[in-house]
Amino acid sequence: MSLYCGIACRRKSFWCCRLLSTFVTKTRYLFELKEDDDACKKAQQTGSFYLFHSLAPLLQTSAHQYLAPRYSLLELKGLLGKFGQDTKRIEDSVLIGCSEQHEAWFALDLGLDSSSISASLQKPEVEAELQGSFMELRKALFHLNGKDASLLFTAQALLRWHHAHQFCSRSGQPTKKNVAGSKRVCPSNNIIYYPQMSPVVITLVSDGTRCLLARQSSFPEGMYSALAGFCDIDPGELERIRGSCLV
Ligand SMILES: [Zn+2]
Repeated sequence: MSLYCGIACRRKSFWCCRLLSTFVTKTRYLFELKEDDDACKKAQQTGSFYLFHSLAPLLQTSAHQYLAPRYSLLELKGLLGKFGQDTKRIEDSVLIGCSEQHEAWFALDLGLDSSSISASLQKPEVEAELQGSFMELRKALFHLNGKDASLLFTAQALLRWHHAHQFCSRSGQPTKKNVAGSKRVCPSNNIIYYPQMSPVVITLVSDGTRCLLARQSSFPEGMYSALAGFCDIDPGELERIRGSCLV
């Protein structure tokens, strides 16, 4: 029995180490791409792209599930060419993750006109060409697998942030994103803007056998949610919390 437990523990420890090691190497790789524009451009050559239109991801239906298709750089250039778009539009894409084999994944919004070179592509034409639909992400959530859902929400948040932060709040000049989209810089005064982090709290109220759920009228039929909310802490409040923690 103790021999069996010993082997099981060693196996568990082996898989924990392996998972941790994969996580560390992926994180290091992503960090490199965020800091090095040339490395990130190179990663685009072998990477793949999720597509959005006005913050709605492109999804395809397969056996009652939604799949989020990815396109290579070559396929993406072909698509933009077909719709008479400048391939410089790909510069608007953002890095959202990578596979264990270090295939970098990016997201590009074809509907937001976030720079002077990019006019919005017509949604129905792109949907017909790619045999999919740009769908509201919240409504599609329960028909997506966990990996796609997580990546698409990350992508949507980052694309939204870039769309809303195109100008420097001090000089009013246009800011420029780095290749990975992990920051924006104002060329006139070198102020760096990073995507905002919003802490969120989710609670499940339960008496052990039942739990309290809520729904909004805008939810699709049958969808309920636990109670959640964002924590918006201003700097003064943060100092107060720090002070009470020290006491
Ligand atoms: Zn500025």
